[in-house]
Amino acid sequence: MTDAPNYGFETLQIHAGARPDPATGARQTPIYQTTAYVFRDAEHAAALFNLQEVGYIYSRLTNPTVAALQERVATLEGGAGAVCCSSGHAAQIMALFPLMGPGCNVVVSTRLYGGSITQFSQTIRRFGWSAKFVDIDDMDAIREAIDDDTRAVFCESIANPGGHIADLRAVADVADAAGIPLIVDNTSATPYLCRPIEHGATLVVHSMTKYLTGNGTVTGGVVVDSGNFDWSASDKFPSLSEPEPAYHGLKFHETFGPLAFTFHGIAVGLRDLGMTLNPQAAHYTLLGIETLSLRMERHVENATKVAGWLEGHDNVEAVTYAGLQSSPYHDRVAKVCPKGAGGLFTVTLKGGYDACVKFVDSLELFSHVANLGDTRSLVIHSASTTHRQLTPEQQEAAGAAPNVVRISIGCENADDLIADLDQALAKAHS
Ligand SMILES: *Cc1c(COP(=O)(O)O)cnc(C)c1O
Repeated sequence: MTDAPNYGFETLQIHAGARPDPATGARQTPIYQTTAYVFRDAEHAAALFNLQEVGYIYSRLTNPTVAALQERVATLEGGAGAVCCSSGHAAQIMALFPLMGPGCNVVVSTRLYGGSITQFSQTIRRFGWSAKFVDIDDMDAIREAIDDDTRAVFCESIANPGGHIADLRAVADVADAAGIPLIVDNTSATPYLCRPIEHGATLVVHSMTKYLTGNGTVTGGVVVDSGNFDWSASDKFPSLSEPEPAYHGLKFHETFGPLAFTFHGIAVGLRDLGMTLNPQAAHYTLLGIETLSLRMERHVENATKVAGWLEGHDNVEAVTYAGLQSSPYHDRVAKVCPKGAGGLFTVTLKGGYDACVKFVDSLELFSHVANLGDTRSLVIHSASTTHRQLTPEQQEAAGAAPNVVRISIGCENADDLIADLDQALAKAHS
Protein backbone atom coordinates (compact mmCIF):
# COMPACT_ATOMS: atom_id res chain seq x y z
CA MET A 1 0.00 0.00 0.00
CA THR A 2 1.39 3.42 -0.86
CA ASP A 3 -0.51 6.66 -0.23
CA ALA A 4 -3.60 6.11 1.87
CA PRO A 5 -4.26 9.25 3.82
CA ASN A 6 -7.86 8.54 4.76
CA TYR A 7 -8.10 4.82 5.42
CA GLY A 8 -9.55 3.82 8.78
CA PHE A 9 -7.69 1.90 11.47
CA GLU A 10 -9.28 -1.43 10.47
CA THR A 11 -8.01 -1.03 6.91
CA LEU A 12 -4.55 0.15 7.91
CA GLN A 13 -4.02 -2.71 10.38
CA ILE A 14 -4.31 -5.07 7.40
CA HIS A 15 -2.66 -3.09 4.62
CA ALA A 16 -0.16 -0.55 6.00
CA GLY A 17 3.43 -1.49 5.19
CA ALA A 18 2.44 -4.48 3.05
CA ARG A 19 2.66 -4.75 -0.72
CA PRO A 20 2.56 -7.78 -2.99
CA ASP A 21 6.10 -9.19 -3.21
CA PRO A 22 7.74 -7.50 -6.23
CA ALA A 23 9.51 -10.70 -7.30
CA THR A 24 6.71 -13.27 -6.98
CA GLY A 25 3.46 -11.40 -6.42
CA ALA A 26 3.03 -13.21 -3.08
CA ARG A 27 0.12 -11.43 -1.38
CA GLN A 28 1.13 -12.12 2.20
CA THR A 29 4.37 -10.46 3.32
CA PRO A 30 7.03 -13.17 2.95
CA ILE A 31 9.43 -14.11 5.73
CA TYR A 32 12.68 -12.81 4.24
CA GLN A 33 14.81 -15.34 6.08
CA THR A 34 18.11 -13.89 4.93
CA THR A 35 21.10 -12.38 6.68
CA ALA A 36 22.50 -10.33 3.81
CA TYR A 37 21.53 -8.66 0.50
CA VAL A 38 23.55 -8.58 -2.71
CA PHE A 39 24.94 -5.15 -3.60
CA ARG A 40 24.49 -4.00 -7.22
CA ASP A 41 28.16 -3.02 -7.31
CA ALA A 42 30.88 -1.58 -5.08
CA GLU A 43 29.57 1.96 -5.48
CA HIS A 44 26.07 0.90 -4.36
CA ALA A 45 27.58 -0.84 -1.32
CA ALA A 46 29.57 2.28 -0.38
CA ALA A 47 26.48 4.52 -0.71
CA LEU A 48 24.46 2.22 1.55
CA PHE A 49 27.18 2.09 4.20
CA ASN A 50 27.48 5.91 4.12
CA LEU A 51 23.69 6.30 4.58
CA GLN A 52 23.61 8.19 1.26
CA GLU A 53 21.18 5.65 -0.12
CA VAL A 54 18.55 3.70 1.81
CA GLY A 55 18.52 -0.05 1.26
CA TYR A 56 19.17 -3.43 2.75
CA ILE A 57 22.68 -4.34 3.93
CA TYR A 58 22.51 -6.87 6.74
CA SER A 59 19.55 -8.13 8.81
CA ARG A 60 20.91 -6.86 12.14
CA LEU A 61 19.99 -3.41 10.74
CA THR A 62 17.15 -3.89 8.28
CA ASN A 63 15.07 -6.70 6.78
CA PRO A 64 12.05 -6.43 4.44
CA THR A 65 9.67 -8.39 6.72
CA VAL A 66 10.70 -6.32 9.72
CA ALA A 67 10.46 -3.13 7.62
CA ALA A 68 6.83 -3.94 6.72
CA LEU A 69 6.04 -4.29 10.42
CA GLN A 70 7.85 -1.04 11.25
CA GLU A 71 5.78 0.82 8.67
CA ARG A 72 2.55 -0.77 9.90
CA VAL A 73 3.07 0.09 13.57
CA ALA A 74 4.30 3.61 12.74
CA THR A 75 1.15 4.14 10.64
CA LEU A 76 -1.22 2.83 13.33
CA GLU A 77 0.43 5.03 15.98
CA GLY A 78 0.45 8.08 13.67
CA GLY A 79 4.26 8.29 13.85
CA ALA A 80 6.94 9.23 11.31
CA GLY A 81 8.89 6.00 11.69
CA ALA A 82 9.51 2.98 13.89
CA VAL A 83 12.32 0.64 14.87
CA CYS A 84 11.50 -2.94 15.82
CA CYS A 85 13.57 -4.68 18.46
CA SER A 86 13.91 -8.08 20.07
CA SER A 87 11.63 -7.39 23.08
CA GLY A 88 9.68 -4.70 24.87
CA HIS A 89 12.56 -4.21 27.27
CA ALA A 90 14.97 -3.83 24.34
CA ALA A 91 12.61 -1.16 22.96
CA GLN A 92 12.87 0.78 26.22
CA ILE A 93 16.68 0.79 26.07
CA MET A 94 16.54 1.65 22.35
CA ALA A 95 14.21 4.58 23.13
CA LEU A 96 16.50 5.98 25.82
CA PHE A 97 19.85 5.24 24.16
CA PRO A 98 19.97 8.23 21.73
CA LEU A 99 18.79 10.60 24.48
CA MET A 100 20.88 9.60 27.46
CA GLY A 101 24.55 9.64 28.45
CA PRO A 102 26.46 9.06 31.67
CA GLY A 103 25.03 11.34 34.37
CA CYS A 104 21.66 11.75 32.63
CA ASN A 105 18.35 10.74 34.20
CA VAL A 106 14.81 9.91 33.15
CA VAL A 107 11.73 10.80 35.21
CA VAL A 108 9.46 7.74 35.31
CA SER A 109 6.06 6.82 36.71
CA THR A 110 5.90 4.57 39.78
CA ARG A 111 3.05 2.72 38.05
CA LEU A 112 4.91 0.52 35.59
CA TYR A 113 5.27 -3.10 34.55
CA GLY A 114 7.43 -4.76 37.25
CA GLY A 115 10.28 -5.55 34.88
CA SER A 116 10.43 -1.90 33.82
CA ILE A 117 10.78 -0.81 37.44
CA THR A 118 13.74 -3.17 37.85
CA GLN A 119 15.27 -2.08 34.53
CA PHE A 120 15.02 1.60 35.48
CA SER A 121 15.87 1.38 39.18
CA GLN A 122 18.77 -1.10 38.87
CA THR A 123 20.10 -2.04 35.47
CA ILE A 124 20.36 1.31 33.67
CA ARG A 125 22.67 2.52 36.44
CA ARG A 126 25.37 0.31 34.89
CA PHE A 127 25.29 2.73 31.95
CA GLY A 128 25.67 5.73 34.25
CA TRP A 129 21.97 6.56 33.72
CA SER A 130 19.43 6.89 36.51
CA ALA A 131 15.66 7.13 36.98
CA LYS A 132 13.62 9.31 39.32
CA PHE A 133 10.27 7.74 40.24
CA VAL A 134 7.28 10.05 40.60
CA ASP A 135 3.51 9.86 41.00
CA ILE A 136 2.53 10.48 37.38
CA ASP A 137 -0.74 12.14 38.51
CA ASP A 138 1.23 14.82 40.38
CA MET A 139 2.32 17.44 37.82
CA ASP A 140 4.20 19.44 40.46
CA ALA A 141 6.17 16.35 41.45
CA ILE A 142 7.10 15.73 37.80
CA ARG A 143 8.14 19.38 37.39
CA GLU A 144 10.25 19.24 40.55
CA ALA A 145 11.92 15.97 39.57
CA ILE A 146 13.05 17.33 36.20
CA ASP A 147 16.54 18.84 36.40
CA ASP A 148 19.23 19.93 33.92
CA ASP A 149 20.30 16.32 33.40
CA THR A 150 16.79 14.95 32.72
CA ARG A 151 16.41 13.73 29.15
CA ALA A 152 12.87 12.28 29.11
CA VAL A 153 9.69 11.53 31.04
CA PHE A 154 8.42 7.92 30.81
CA CYS A 155 4.99 6.49 31.68
CA GLU A 156 2.48 3.86 30.57
CA SER A 157 -0.82 4.93 28.98
CA ILE A 158 -2.84 2.22 30.77
CA ALA A 159 -0.49 1.00 33.49
CA ASN A 160 0.24 -2.68 33.93
CA PRO A 161 -1.13 -4.10 36.17
CA GLY A 162 -3.03 -1.50 38.20
CA GLY A 163 -5.46 -0.18 35.57
CA HIS A 164 -4.26 3.38 36.11
CA ILE A 165 -4.72 5.71 33.12
CA ALA A 166 -2.23 8.55 32.75
CA ASP A 167 -3.39 12.03 31.80
CA LEU A 168 -1.03 11.98 28.82
CA ARG A 169 -1.77 15.53 27.64
CA ALA A 170 -0.97 17.03 31.05
CA VAL A 171 2.28 15.02 31.37
CA ALA A 172 3.28 15.89 27.78
CA ASP A 173 2.77 19.59 28.52
CA VAL A 174 5.11 19.38 31.53
CA ALA A 175 7.78 17.55 29.48
CA ASP A 176 7.34 20.00 26.63
CA ALA A 177 7.82 23.02 28.90
CA ALA A 178 11.09 21.46 30.08
CA GLY A 179 12.24 20.84 26.49
CA ILE A 180 12.35 17.05 26.84
CA PRO A 181 10.37 14.26 25.17
CA LEU A 182 7.59 12.19 26.73
CA ILE A 183 7.98 8.45 26.10
CA VAL A 184 4.79 6.41 26.49
CA ASP A 185 4.68 2.63 26.89
CA ASN A 186 1.44 1.87 25.04
CA THR A 187 1.59 -1.92 25.44
CA SER A 188 -1.60 -2.39 27.47
CA ALA A 189 -3.70 0.01 25.39
CA THR A 190 -2.43 -0.63 21.83
CA PRO A 191 -2.94 2.07 19.17
CA TYR A 192 -6.53 0.87 18.73
CA LEU A 193 -7.49 2.13 22.18
CA CYS A 194 -4.99 4.96 22.63
CA ARG A 195 -2.72 6.95 20.31
CA PRO A 196 -0.24 8.73 22.64
CA ILE A 197 1.22 10.92 19.87
CA GLU A 198 -2.18 12.63 19.56
CA HIS A 199 -1.83 13.50 23.25
CA GLY A 200 1.64 15.04 22.80
CA ALA A 201 3.97 12.04 23.25
CA THR A 202 7.25 12.17 21.31
CA LEU A 203 8.06 8.46 21.41
CA VAL A 204 5.84 5.40 21.88
CA VAL A 205 7.22 2.02 22.91
CA HIS A 206 5.53 -1.38 22.85
CA SER A 207 6.09 -4.86 24.00
CA MET A 208 4.74 -6.49 20.80
CA THR A 209 4.88 -9.72 22.81
CA LYS A 210 1.47 -8.77 24.17
CA TYR A 211 -1.62 -7.51 22.29
CA LEU A 212 0.06 -6.57 18.99
CA THR A 213 0.98 -10.19 18.27
CA GLY A 214 -1.88 -11.27 20.50
CA ASN A 215 -1.42 -14.99 20.86
CA GLY A 216 1.68 -15.59 22.91
CA THR A 217 4.00 -16.69 20.10
CA VAL A 218 6.52 -13.85 19.87
CA THR A 219 8.88 -11.78 21.99
CA GLY A 220 9.26 -8.39 20.33
CA GLY A 221 9.27 -4.66 20.83
CA VAL A 222 9.09 -1.44 18.87
CA VAL A 223 9.91 2.24 19.29
CA VAL A 224 7.74 4.66 17.30
CA ASP A 225 8.87 8.24 16.77
CA SER A 226 6.31 10.99 16.25
CA GLY A 227 8.85 12.98 14.20
CA ASN A 228 7.66 16.08 16.05
CA PHE A 229 10.51 16.77 18.47
CA ASP A 230 13.14 19.44 17.71
CA TRP A 231 16.32 17.62 18.76
CA SER A 232 18.43 20.67 17.85
CA ALA A 233 16.53 23.18 20.03
CA SER A 234 18.98 22.64 22.91
CA ASP A 235 22.34 20.98 23.50
CA LYS A 236 20.66 18.13 25.40
CA PHE A 237 20.56 15.59 22.56
CA PRO A 238 24.02 15.60 20.92
CA SER A 239 23.61 12.07 19.48
CA LEU A 240 20.89 13.48 17.22
CA SER A 241 21.97 17.11 16.77
CA GLU A 242 25.80 16.93 16.72
CA PRO A 243 28.18 15.30 14.19
CA GLU A 244 28.31 11.48 14.49
CA PRO A 245 31.95 10.35 14.30
CA ALA A 246 31.03 6.84 13.11
CA TYR A 247 29.36 8.33 9.99
CA HIS A 248 32.00 10.92 8.96
CA GLY A 249 30.46 13.70 11.02
CA LEU A 250 26.88 13.28 9.70
CA LYS A 251 24.26 15.11 11.81
CA PHE A 252 21.16 12.91 12.09
CA HIS A 253 18.64 15.66 12.79
CA GLU A 254 19.95 18.01 10.11
CA THR A 255 20.17 15.21 7.52
CA PHE A 256 17.02 13.18 8.22
CA GLY A 257 14.66 15.75 9.80
CA PRO A 258 11.57 14.03 11.26
CA LEU A 259 13.16 10.61 10.61
CA ALA A 260 16.31 11.44 12.63
CA PHE A 261 15.39 9.28 15.62
CA THR A 262 14.38 6.33 13.43
CA PHE A 263 17.53 6.46 11.30
CA HIS A 264 19.70 6.76 14.42
CA GLY A 265 17.85 3.81 15.95
CA ILE A 266 18.73 1.63 12.98
CA ALA A 267 22.11 3.00 11.91
CA VAL A 268 23.59 3.31 15.41
CA GLY A 269 21.19 1.60 17.86
CA LEU A 270 20.61 -1.72 16.07
CA ARG A 271 24.05 -1.66 14.48
CA ASP A 272 25.88 -1.42 17.82
CA LEU A 273 23.45 -2.75 20.44
CA GLY A 274 22.15 -5.52 18.17
CA MET A 275 18.70 -5.91 19.78
CA THR A 276 17.20 -6.91 16.44
CA LEU A 277 13.79 -8.46 15.79
CA ASN A 278 14.01 -11.59 13.64
CA PRO A 279 11.93 -11.80 10.42
CA GLN A 280 9.86 -14.79 11.55
CA ALA A 281 8.79 -12.95 14.70
CA ALA A 282 7.94 -9.91 12.54
CA HIS A 283 5.78 -12.14 10.32
CA TYR A 284 3.77 -13.49 13.28
CA THR A 285 3.28 -9.96 14.57
CA LEU A 286 2.11 -8.73 11.15
CA LEU A 287 -0.48 -11.54 11.16
CA GLY A 288 -1.55 -10.64 14.69
CA ILE A 289 -2.00 -6.95 13.94
CA GLU A 290 -4.39 -7.78 11.06
CA THR A 291 -7.06 -8.59 13.69
CA LEU A 292 -6.02 -6.10 16.39
CA SER A 293 -9.22 -4.02 16.40
CA LEU A 294 -11.43 -7.12 16.51
CA ARG A 295 -9.50 -8.63 19.38
CA MET A 296 -9.33 -5.38 21.37
CA GLU A 297 -13.09 -4.89 21.03
CA ARG A 298 -13.65 -8.36 22.46
CA HIS A 299 -11.01 -7.91 25.19
CA VAL A 300 -12.78 -4.71 26.29
CA GLU A 301 -16.27 -6.23 26.10
CA ASN A 302 -15.22 -9.32 28.10
CA ALA A 303 -13.16 -7.33 30.63
CA THR A 304 -16.07 -4.98 31.28
CA LYS A 305 -18.43 -7.90 31.90
CA VAL A 306 -16.00 -9.92 34.04
CA ALA A 307 -14.74 -6.95 36.08
CA GLY A 308 -18.33 -5.90 36.79
CA TRP A 309 -19.18 -9.41 37.97
CA LEU A 310 -16.07 -9.67 40.16
CA GLU A 311 -16.79 -6.31 41.75
CA GLY A 312 -20.10 -7.66 43.06
CA HIS A 313 -18.58 -10.86 44.52
CA ASP A 314 -18.53 -11.26 48.32
CA ASN A 315 -14.93 -12.47 48.48
CA VAL A 316 -13.59 -9.61 46.35
CA GLU A 317 -12.39 -6.44 48.02
CA ALA A 318 -11.66 -4.34 44.95
CA VAL A 319 -11.31 -4.43 41.14
CA THR A 320 -9.11 -1.83 39.42
CA TYR A 321 -10.61 -1.87 35.93
CA ALA A 322 -10.86 1.72 34.69
CA GLY A 323 -13.90 0.74 32.63
CA LEU A 324 -15.92 0.43 35.87
CA GLN A 325 -17.87 3.44 37.14
CA SER A 326 -16.21 2.93 40.54
CA SER A 327 -12.68 3.50 39.16
CA PRO A 328 -11.06 6.84 40.05
CA TYR A 329 -9.73 6.82 36.47
CA HIS A 330 -13.11 6.23 34.84
CA ASP A 331 -13.29 9.84 33.60
CA ARG A 332 -9.97 9.47 31.81
CA VAL A 333 -11.22 6.61 29.62
CA ALA A 334 -13.22 8.96 27.38
CA LYS A 335 -10.29 11.34 27.13
CA VAL A 336 -7.28 9.01 26.78
CA CYS A 337 -8.62 5.68 25.46
CA PRO A 338 -12.14 6.34 24.16
CA LYS A 339 -12.67 2.82 22.72
CA GLY A 340 -12.20 1.23 26.13
CA ALA A 341 -9.92 0.62 29.08
CA GLY A 342 -8.29 -2.56 27.73
CA GLY A 343 -8.40 -6.12 29.00
CA LEU A 344 -6.10 -5.95 32.00
CA PHE A 345 -6.92 -5.31 35.63
CA THR A 346 -6.20 -6.45 39.15
CA VAL A 347 -8.45 -7.97 41.77
CA THR A 348 -7.88 -7.58 45.49
CA LEU A 349 -9.12 -10.66 47.32
CA LYS A 350 -10.32 -10.93 50.87
CA GLY A 351 -8.04 -13.43 52.59
CA GLY A 352 -4.77 -11.87 51.44
CA TYR A 353 -1.74 -13.69 50.06
CA ASP A 354 -2.97 -17.21 50.86
CA ALA A 355 -6.36 -16.73 49.22
CA CYS A 356 -4.63 -15.32 46.11
CA VAL A 357 -2.34 -18.33 45.78
CA LYS A 358 -5.26 -20.78 46.21
CA PHE A 359 -7.38 -18.83 43.76
CA VAL A 360 -4.69 -18.89 41.07
CA ASP A 361 -4.06 -22.61 41.63
CA SER A 362 -7.80 -23.40 41.35
CA LEU A 363 -8.47 -21.71 37.99
CA GLU A 364 -8.89 -24.10 35.07
CA LEU A 365 -9.62 -22.01 31.98
CA PHE A 366 -7.25 -19.20 32.97
CA SER A 367 -3.56 -20.04 32.57
CA HIS A 368 -1.13 -19.05 35.32
CA VAL A 369 1.62 -17.45 33.26
CA ALA A 370 3.96 -14.45 33.18
CA ASN A 371 2.32 -12.93 30.12
CA LEU A 372 -0.67 -10.80 29.17
CA GLY A 373 -2.48 -9.64 26.07
CA ASP A 374 -3.19 -13.14 24.74
CA THR A 375 -6.43 -14.41 23.15
CA ARG A 376 -6.36 -16.83 26.12
CA SER A 377 -7.28 -15.50 29.56
CA LEU A 378 -4.27 -15.35 31.84
CA VAL A 379 -3.71 -14.77 35.51
CA ILE A 380 -0.72 -14.11 37.72
CA HIS A 381 -0.06 -13.32 41.33
CA SER A 382 2.32 -10.40 40.73
CA ALA A 383 3.70 -10.15 44.29
CA SER A 384 5.08 -13.71 44.20
CA THR A 385 6.29 -13.52 40.57
CA THR A 386 6.77 -10.51 38.24
CA HIS A 387 6.94 -7.97 41.07
CA ARG A 388 8.82 -10.25 43.47
CA GLN A 389 12.12 -8.31 43.20
CA LEU A 390 10.43 -5.10 44.33
CA THR A 391 10.25 -3.70 47.83
CA PRO A 392 6.81 -3.79 49.54
CA GLU A 393 6.54 -0.02 48.91
CA GLN A 394 7.33 -0.46 45.21
CA GLN A 395 4.82 -3.34 44.99
CA GLU A 396 2.13 -1.20 46.57
CA ALA A 397 2.89 1.77 44.30
CA ALA A 398 2.86 -0.47 41.22
CA GLY A 399 -0.55 -1.93 42.13
CA ALA A 400 0.93 -5.34 42.94
CA ALA A 401 0.42 -5.77 46.69
CA PRO A 402 0.40 -9.34 48.15
CA ASN A 403 -3.44 -9.54 48.20
CA VAL A 404 -3.71 -8.59 44.51
CA VAL A 405 -4.05 -10.87 41.47
CA ARG A 406 -3.53 -9.61 37.91
CA ILE A 407 -5.99 -10.78 35.28
CA SER A 408 -5.60 -10.51 31.51
CA ILE A 409 -8.99 -11.17 29.97
CA GLY A 410 -8.90 -13.05 26.67
CA CYS A 411 -11.30 -13.40 23.77
CA GLU A 412 -13.21 -16.45 25.02
CA ASN A 413 -16.90 -16.55 25.98
CA ALA A 414 -17.28 -14.19 28.97
CA ASP A 415 -19.78 -16.48 30.76
CA ASP A 416 -17.26 -19.34 30.66
CA LEU A 417 -14.65 -17.05 32.22
CA ILE A 418 -17.05 -15.99 34.95
CA ALA A 419 -17.92 -19.62 35.74
CA ASP A 420 -14.24 -20.48 36.12
CA LEU A 421 -13.59 -17.46 38.36
CA ASP A 422 -16.65 -18.35 40.44
CA GLN A 423 -15.49 -21.91 41.24
CA ALA A 424 -11.90 -20.71 41.96
CA LEU A 425 -13.12 -17.97 44.32
CA ALA A 426 -15.20 -20.55 46.18
CA LYS A 427 -12.14 -22.82 46.62
CA ALA A 428 -9.89 -19.88 47.62
CA HIS A 429 -12.16 -19.10 50.54
CA SER A 430 -13.15 -22.61 51.58
C1 LIG B 1 5.69 -7.10 28.98
C2 LIG B 1 5.84 -5.65 29.11
C3 LIG B 1 7.09 -5.03 28.88
C4 LIG B 1 8.33 -5.81 28.55
O1 LIG B 1 8.20 -6.42 27.31
P1 LIG B 1 8.97 -7.77 26.89
O2 LIG B 1 8.54 -8.00 25.50
O3 LIG B 1 8.56 -8.83 27.85
O4 LIG B 1 10.44 -7.44 27.02
C5 LIG B 1 7.16 -3.66 29.00
N1 LIG B 1 6.06 -2.92 29.32
C6 LIG B 1 4.87 -3.48 29.54
C7 LIG B 1 3.71 -2.61 29.87
C8 LIG B 1 4.71 -4.85 29.44
O5 LIG B 1 3.51 -5.41 29.67
